[in-house]
Amino acid sequence: MTTAELIVANVEKVRLQIIAACERSGRNPDDVTLIAVSKKHPPSLIHAAWAAGVQHFGENRVEEAETKIPVANELVSQPVTWHMIGHIQSRKARYIPRLFQMVHSVDSLKLAQKLSDYAQAVDIKLPVLIQMNIAGEEQKSGFWAKGWQVDETVYQQLVNVISQINQLPSLVVQGLMTMAPIVSSPEQARPVFTSLATLRMRLEQSLELSLPHLSMGMTDDYPVAIEEGATLVRIGRAIFGPRT
Ligand SMILES: *Cc1c(COP(=O)(O)O)cnc(C)c1O
Repeated sequence: MTTAELIVANVEKVRLQIIAACERSGRNPDDVTLIAVSKKHPPSLIHAAWAAGVQHFGENRVEEAETKIPVANELVSQPVTWHMIGHIQSRKARYIPRLFQMVHSVDSLKLAQKLSDYAQAVDIKLPVLIQMNIAGEEQKSGFWAKGWQVDETVYQQLVNVISQINQLPSLVVQGLMTMAPIVSSPEQARPVFTSLATLRMRLEQSLELSLPHLSMGMTDDYPVAIEEGATLVRIGRAIFGPRT
């Protein structure tokens, strides 16, 4: 099998897993969008996934995306949707609105303000998700959300900051994103996904704001994330194989 053929077969497998997880949880597969995470892989492989029907791609580094996205866009004959899923340094924010159609990794008010300014400058309303550090891992980015269910201070801080981000003129807050801790079995990640789904519901009530998207689930845990309500799954290795 060529690499391209392998990717086609992988996409098919992942799609079947998505459908199976939706069946187990009584969800409609149309409500789950597959984002192929193409970081560290060349445009030719992006083309292979696109040929297999993938329309959404994720990148996590601005430097890499800047050179790769224009090349990949040339290879495909219909526009695809690019998702920024990694931490963005403030000084790189200016490149985001013209490269990406959605940002999953808004993790500070300062970044949100910059993204809004740069989006406004090119007359774009940029859809964004707010990244949550649900498990409270020091090395992970995202707003601190550990214990939000029991700690009113943590919860109110989240309400305040999202309310401020939501008032920025050129961002459209569409939901939440999280990365589960690395665990030995996907089942162990379930409480993190349940917590993000519940947090989304509570924030919708507190802010009187619709938050349609939950970006959660990667190669090792996406079936569980879908069972808990993921609308966007970010899958790299299960599609492109290991990254070198
Ligand atoms: C790399 C990455 C993924 C995909 O990870 P896989 O384990 O390869 O599926 C998803 N989300 C983020 C934020 C990533 O950086």
